[in-house]
Amino acid sequence: MIIRRKKGIAIIGNGCAAAECIKKLREKGYSGEIHLFSDNDRPIANPMLTTYFVSGKIDWEGLFPYGKGDEFYHNYQVITHFGSPVVNLDAHNRIIKNKDGFEFSYDQCLIATGASPFLPSIPGIHSNKVFVIRTVDDAVRLKKALQNRPHKALVVGASMAGIKVVEAFHMVGVKVILADLADHIFPLAAHPDCAHIIEKRLLEKGIDLKFGAAITAIEETSGGLKAYFAGNIEPVEADLLVMCIGVRANTGFLERKQVEIKQGVLVDQQMRTNVPGLFAAGDVAQGRNLLSNEGQIMGLWANARYQGRTAGANMAGVPEFFPGNIPHNITHFLGMDFIGIGDVKQFTRMEKKYDGKRFIQLFWQGDILTGANFLDDYQSSGIIKNQILKNLQVSYKTSQSSLPFIQNLLIRNIFEEVEKCERA
Ligand SMILES: Cc1cc2nc3c(=O)[nH]c(=O)nc-3n(C[C@H](O)[C@H](O)[C@H](O)COP(=O)(O)OP(=O)(O)OC[C@H]3O[C@@H](n4cnc5c(N)ncnc54)[C@H](O)[C@@H]3O)c2cc1C
Repeated sequence: MIIRRKKGIAIIGNGCAAAECIKKLREKGYSGEIHLFSDNDRPIANPMLTTYFVSGKIDWEGLFPYGKGDEFYHNYQVITHFGSPVVNLDAHNRIIKNKDGFEFSYDQCLIATGASPFLPSIPGIHSNKVFVIRTVDDAVRLKKALQNRPHKALVVGASMAGIKVVEAFHMVGVKVILADLADHIFPLAAHPDCAHIIEKRLLEKGIDLKFGAAITAIEETSGGLKAYFAGNIEPVEADLLVMCIGVRANTGFLERKQVEIKQGVLVDQQMRTNVPGLFAAGDVAQGRNLLSNEGQIMGLWANARYQGRTAGANMAGVPEFFPGNIPHNITHFLGMDFIGIGDVKQFTRMEKKYDGKRFIQLFWQGDILTGANFLDDYQSSGIIKNQILKNLQVSYKTSQSSLPFIQNLLIRNIFEEVEKCERA
């Protein structure tokens, strides 16, 4: 079945990037049809909150920040096509097709399909004792598994998602082992000095840690499973395992000959792809790391919202720009507040301060402050974030004097937005 619309907008994916695009389209006066395609039939969910649902910290409704029913779609006059993934997008002819065989010819389209957990090709990975966490369905499955009262869980991946899973298990009294190939926790966001303080606190809480541990195989046992690691590392027996070793952008329905894709769909500052009329936003989109000036998927809720809004404005015909972002992680877990901003790997100077509770570590490249780690010091982090952004604006002014003023303003607003979103 083909439905042809002259002025229809198609949005693929039903996360916050899609929601913010829809809001902005209407705010900017777009009055045509908006068709939303989703692979599931749930309202817009927040993946960040899934582990809180698993542990019981929030209830079912808490998973859906835009409303638990169809009020959002009703308010913004959205025509929904739910419960069937888009399986093909012919970007040149502007036609999308979902698994049910429904074809839709669009005028403009936003790709907002987010990302999915990465699973390595190792024996046993498809065991029903192996879990991931991203979607509402993942959370429901893991919560059900907890009803069987497991004693011991293995979490592979000392990432921001991994630590949230550790926290969820710890809160309900399940013994946890956290393993990672890297030699310390938060390998991308934390300097080893900061990581080791976090690790010490985790050990004090009874959480076992295994670093330098590359998982090679999983074997089901009568009671649970056994995970094997490369080298001399002892296998681990557990009742279940959660893989948290990163995500991959959901781009499988796109033709790579048509749409430029690296780790994600390449976008410019207006969220435009290389194909006219086709936009991308959120965890599927590869925008710009303002520090390195290279393309990067940020994998952040606030970033996805900002990109969605930028796409929406431009799709409505009102030029808006989102220049990029700085890698940053702000996370609260097991009584600790960790903040990692910018680049903590490459630096020419480093300073740190620790009073036994609060830890601050700053990194410079030449005279420019380019990275920071904070533990339990939320207040100073705001000052440092602003300093990094100020430096960036100065370097932008000197290196790209044509950069419009509005873009500098947007850079400054990014962190205000992050804080608002993360406190919400
Ligand atoms: C456990 C966990 C903890 C996190 N912690 C933080 C944090 O502390 N701070 C932070 O900033 N971010 C965090 N994040 C990341 C944050 O949730 C994401 O960056 C954000 O949700 C991205 O939004 P999105 O709209 O791009 O994608 P998503 O929210 O993933 O939405 C994409 C939607 O598209 C749908 N879809 C996918 N493929 C198709 C298809 N082919 N057809 C139709 N529909 C499709 C999906 O089902 C989904 O509904 C965390 C994520 C997880 C899982």
